[in-house]
Amino acid sequence: MAIFLSEGLQGDEAESVGGGRAPFQGDEEFGLARGPEPGLIAWQRRGWMSLPPGLTQQQRRSPLGGALQRQLSAALGGQIGWSGSHLQILEGSQCVRPYNTPNRPLSQRGTPVAAASPSTFVVLLVTLAVWISGWWRISSEDRAEARPRGKVVLTDAARKLHAEALVIDGHNDLPFRYRMQNDLALKVHDLRQPQKDFHTDIPRLRAGGLGAQFWSAFVPSSSAKKGTAVRETLEQIDVIHRLVAAYPDVFAMAGTAAEVVRVRAEGKIASLIGVEGGHSIDNSLAVLRTYYALGVRYLTLTHSENVDWADSATDQPRLKGLSPFGEEVVREMNRLGMLVDISHVSPEVMKHVLRITRAPVIASHSSAYALAPHPRNVPDEVLRLVKDNGGVIMVNFYSGFIVPEGARAMQQMFRVGRELRQRYSNDTEFHTAMSQWMKENPFPRGSIHTLVDHIDHIVKVAGVEHVGLGSDYDGIATVPEQLEDVSCYPLITQELLNRGYDREAILKILGGNVLRAMQQAEAVARGGGAK
Ligand SMILES: [Zn+2]
Repeated sequence: MAIFLSEGLQGDEAESVGGGRAPFQGDEEFGLARGPEPGLIAWQRRGWMSLPPGLTQQQRRSPLGGALQRQLSAALGGQIGWSGSHLQILEGSQCVRPYNTPNRPLSQRGTPVAAASPSTFVVLLVTLAVWISGWWRISSEDRAEARPRGKVVLTDAARKLHAEALVIDGHNDLPFRYRMQNDLALKVHDLRQPQKDFHTDIPRLRAGGLGAQFWSAFVPSSSAKKGTAVRETLEQIDVIHRLVAAYPDVFAMAGTAAEVVRVRAEGKIASLIGVEGGHSIDNSLAVLRTYYALGVRYLTLTHSENVDWADSATDQPRLKGLSPFGEEVVREMNRLGMLVDISHVSPEVMKHVLRITRAPVIASHSSAYALAPHPRNVPDEVLRLVKDNGGVIMVNFYSGFIVPEGARAMQQMFRVGRELRQRYSNDTEFHTAMSQWMKENPFPRGSIHTLVDHIDHIVKVAGVEHVGLGSDYDGIATVPEQLEDVSCYPLITQELLNRGYDREAILKILGGNVLRAMQQAEAVARGGGAK
């Protein structure tokens, strides 16, 4: 019994090849091989392997599942891992690779898998047959054993779906990076060139297929204490406008959902502004309204410290919710059509906002508390309220907010940050001390699977209409594997497909949900759609 490598066959369309070679058709993946029984076994080099439908987690993790994995690894001369119901060949490819890999000559495509010893394949198929016949039943201890999940490998199907999607990210801190690098004049960092110190540059934004970005106009709470919060926030808003103007073929400002769609249709990245932290309005609704006039489309009510009118998730609770002025801020945002962002606020503030807002809220960059117990993640009881509100939780990619060990370590981060801030008023000294603390408190990075677990959880508790993406790129120090930078979004699409999400659901998660929330907030502002 032999398994032959073939080329140009696509998944279920593939016929049993029996030794033939079909012409290569794909642009990147190659070397699909298939067993003599249709649907039984197939794989692509750097691709996937499909097995009979209906595989359970238990089957995959069974000793025989493990044996199959090891034997395939030996046969293919590479590491094989599970991803969803697929076995994948694990390779250290970078996220951008599928976009950039030139076609190889046909003669180099494919690896002669059949050259592996025939006995390997006999063992392999016997294993598979035994496994399928139901001998995979295993003890609960075996099941509990945590196995690393395989690398997600991009397929044409995911690439195509991703290209169709309007991908919207709720939070990117690139503008603050310009401040940190003393480059508010935009003289040093040319975004058309790869920026190895940033998560974000134009080539990688293009590779990631991003359609719209809420750029964060963030300044630290310490600026409020110095009395410079409004000025610094205006400088950040200004740098976003100048970045967009500097690359007019790449970016365009968008102030409404309709403009986001129009800008995307022109092939550009729709750019919106989010102000992160209520301290930036300096207790003034006039400042809030002025921000709106300057293009700000959400305000995160707090950052990591309380403001006079709302409690932060990472500070001592003082108001146990919003003050009367805090309620006024929310009402004014509803009136303007500015989204209320509940990232960073305490759960009491989240619930208070959800009681009084007339428009859907967003969490521009927050993940699920049930999976990673960091106080600034969103607890299940709030997820259920967000469902009723029509809001969207845009998942944060930061390892410290999605990996449970990371969340536990990071619970201390904001407290430590405050203490260090008191000790070091100089920004550079403060950031050096902070990075030193981070180095001394390491935690696992997690992977794209960890992130998609958060998406799954929010879908389970709140529904598929209420989740989106809020990477926090360029505002976070540690990123999960396969989510290294803004080129990686297509892999999320792939993993959602791997987990069985359908096209409509994926389009919603990638951006459809937040676009719908914007439309609803705009309708509330126009006097329609009030809840
Ligand atoms: Zn933040």
